[in-house]
Amino acid sequence: RVKSEGRNSFSFFDEDLSEKAISRLQLVNDMRAALSRNEFELHYQPLFDTETSRPCGMEALVRWRHPVAGLLYPDRFIGIAEETGLMEPLGQWILQRACADAVSWPQDIKVAVNLSAAQFRAGTLFDVILCVLVETGLPPERLELEITESLLLQEKDSNVLVIQQLKNIGITITLDDFGTGYASLSYLLLFPFDKIKIDKSFTQGLSSRADCRAVVASILTLARGLEIAVTAEGVETKSQFELLRAQGVDYVQGYLFGRPCPLAELDFAALELIVRADEAA
Ligand code: C2E
Ligand code: MG
Ligand code: MG
Ligand code: MG
Repeated sequence: RVKSEGRNSFSFFDEDLSEKAISRLQLVNDMRAALSRNEFELHYQPLFDTETSRPCGMEALVRWRHPVAGLLYPDRFIGIAEETGLMEPLGQWILQRACADAVSWPQDIKVAVNLSAAQFRAGTLFDVILCVLVETGLPPERLELEITESLLLQEKDSNVLVIQQLKNIGITITLDDFGTGYASLSYLLLFPFDKIKIDKSFTQGLSSRADCRAVVASILTLARGLEIAVTAEGVETKSQFELLRAQGVDYVQGYLFGRPCPLAELDFAALELIVRADEAA
């Protein structure tokens, strides 16, 4: 069974206090050496296929085990990494680590990696990813890349070209946080995404808000018309899950099924059991 990483348990308060105790400037300074000191780690959160009730992927989510501040979440340091030019080497490390980890997982489990705009800037992203696949031996069909709309805001044409190259070699391309940007619909015409991920803000309003249900229903109709698969992220309750499954969402992810956890705690056999138990209930 997937263990909680303790974000919302007792240790939450300790982490919260220590996070306040360290300044942004300190983090900027510390980050330069953090990569070579091996302070970053990837946690993995499962994605489930609603049709088969089986896990079909794991999303890699980066954490920084800071020597003083403790475990830091991406909201705290990704922005700093982007501003200081460190996102490109960090992103490369993340890709390498995730693909190396995934190679020993069951064949039908993909690894999903989030990309940052900074990784496109150097113009070497396609080669970097190709290198990582060759070095780790992970088939491109087992890699999924999650990109956000903001990534397509700048350098649109050249970024779309790179994403198309990546799709051409068999990598799955997913539009993350769908519905939160300024022009979500126009992005669907810009690039033939394989999947979209409905943002958790919509998932979480499902049981209580008719407007959220209407938004999710419209996204599903739209996605079907475009033949794009749909994942719902941030599923926390059984009633959210039932509504999503009834409406035909293809994949689900959220605390209800499993929290992000370190590689050492991943147990694929147990993951299947969680969903079977859920169906039996
Ligand atoms: P995201 O890619 O949309 O990832 C989903 C976030 O929602 C993760 O937060 C995850 O832990 C959290 N989450 C998952 N299930 C639930 C749920 O049921 N309820 C709630 N409330 N939250 C849930 P996390 O790990 O803090 O990451 C936040 C964001 O940071 C990510 O959003 C992504 O945009 C970025 N990020 C994370 N890892 C990486 C990375 O390796 N590279 C890049 N470039 N960005 C990353
Ligand atoms: Mg994501
Ligand atoms: Mg998301
Ligand atoms: Mg997000």
